Amino acid sequence: MTQHWLQPNWDPGLTLPHLPIQHLLDQGMQALVLDVDRTLLPGRDIELPASVTAWVKEAQHHLSLHLFSNNPSRKRIGAVAKQLELTFTCSAAKPRRERLRKVMKQLRFQPAEIAIVGDRIFTDVLAGNRLGLYTVLVRPLSADGSPCKNDRVQQLEQKLANWLGAQQT
Ligand SMILES: [Mg+2]
Repeated sequence: MTQHWLQPNWDPGLTLPHLPIQHLLDQGMQALVLDVDRTLLPGRDIELPASVTAWVKEAQHHLSLHLFSNNPSRKRIGAVAKQLELTFTCSAAKPRRERLRKVMKQLRFQPAEIAIVGDRIFTDVLAGNRLGLYTVLVRPLSADGSPCKNDRVQQLEQKLANWLGAQQT
């Protein structure tokens, strides 16, 4: 059976700083396309949790990284990218494919060697699945950097995805 378009390849129930990087390497990943809001940053400010910065630094030793955000603020996403010394795309228009195709071209890896990591099924996961990337759903970060236990948007998205035929994981 082919994978459902709303089904992430990996849904470990963890926030980004808890994702085992080795798992991504074991899957053959060469690059990561990272969502920003609620994946790297809990709130509206641009101060990254220390755990997130440490995770990104570790990931950078092994993988090419790119920030890929639907947020229209070049100032905000650019400031985050600058702290992490990463390239970025704002106004990414996920789940549309155009901008993501451009990033894939720049990364120069096969779709199956690129993971997209984000907290939203209908933007991050859907965009990645449409282009054959390895899709990773993370739990959103809450203000103190811990997993947000009751994220209503993600819960609602999960219900809707299941209703549309994606499997419960
Ligand atoms: Mg997000």
